[in-house]
Amino acid sequence: MAIDPICKKTVDEKTAKFTGYYKGKKYYFCTTDCKKKFDADPAKCV
Ligand SMILES: [Zn+2]
Repeated sequence: MAIDPICKKTVDEKTAKFTGYYKGKKYYFCTTDCKKKFDADPAKCV
């Protein structure tokens, strides 16, 4: 399981629909809202 960096929920990598990359590392999100927050300012989120 991965941790959503925005809300700290666990996300299953196999079923995750919302993913993003930052500095070569992959992140998983529970919802599109979390992904949007991450994309807006990834440096603050990780
Ligand atoms: Zn989330």
